[in-house]
Amino acid sequence: FDDRDGFIHVDGELVPWREARTHLLTHALHYSSSVFEGERAYGGRIFRSREHSQRLLRSAEAIFLPMRVGVEEIERAKYEVLEANGFSDAYVRAFAFRGSRKMGVDAREGGPAHFAVAAWTDWASYFDPDRRAAGIDLVTVPTRRPPPQCMRVQAKAAGNYQISICAKAEAQAMGAFDALMLDWEGHVAESSGANIFFIKDGMLVTPKADRFLDGLTRQTVIEMCRESGWRVEDQRRVSPEELLSADEVFLTGSAVEVTPVRQITHEGQSYEFGTEGHGLEIAAAYAERVRAR
Ligand code: PMP
Repeated sequence: FDDRDGFIHVDGELVPWREARTHLLTHALHYSSSVFEGERAYGGRIFRSREHSQRLLRSAEAIFLPMRVGVEEIERAKYEVLEANGFSDAYVRAFAFRGSRKMGVDAREGGPAHFAVAAWTDWASYFDPDRRAAGIDLVTVPTRRPPPQCMRVQAKAAGNYQISICAKAEAQAMGAFDALMLDWEGHVAESSGANIFFIKDGMLVTPKADRFLDGLTRQTVIEMCRESGWRVEDQRRVSPEELLSADEVFLTGSAVEVTPVRQITHEGQSYEFGTEGHGLEIAAAYAERVRAR
């Protein structure tokens, strides 16, 4: 990913892509002292941009990472990067991390975090487009979402992704595309990098997001569906058995947008879901919403 043309914003400057480097003794590399955002620009406008910027700042605060930028500077940097690279539809990655001033398990004296923004167009579809249209398959994995006392669950912090990467690797080793992660008590949580919804008997359900990231896409889909008359339940726990009895299942996230789930394997048994019903309408409505002016 380091060898390409283009520009990355680094601490107030546009730097050629190949020159945007950091030292090996960067604190973030050893202790995960890093936070990031994943957002999408559609037709030159970043969907819910300010909310992503605000979340980046909240994530930093949650892990004791002092920031040198505020919302306005983050906004400016993101649009500057889109313009410098000539992108109108792109995935945008804003991030901040503790540098190489000091090593050790200690949040003090690192100085303000470095702040950077990169963007790329090769995630036009996060999943392979054919696979995405057909619906993806998930498997429940051993790795679980930990209790909120153990992790900053509402922060998009690099450290949180260690369990996501392990969960996805477990799923891949079992031949599935992605992981269905349960929480530490065995309730349905989310996939490795997206929230999960299901449709059953005309009702839309998504687990209460107090044990994992309450995604902006999750919030958008809930709001959009309520506006168009759906009954939505988003404030309760969901058991794997309830999810597996659903008519349709889909994932939501800034990167995955609304992606149908075709199959879930749980305790050795596979369950199939419809991928051409209401989920498609919701995906289309989301695609329209992100480009609405
Ligand atoms: N959960 C996890 C673990 C994620 O990485 C993401 C993607 N940021 C989401 C949920 C969805 O969040 P959002 O809709 O804000 O992109």
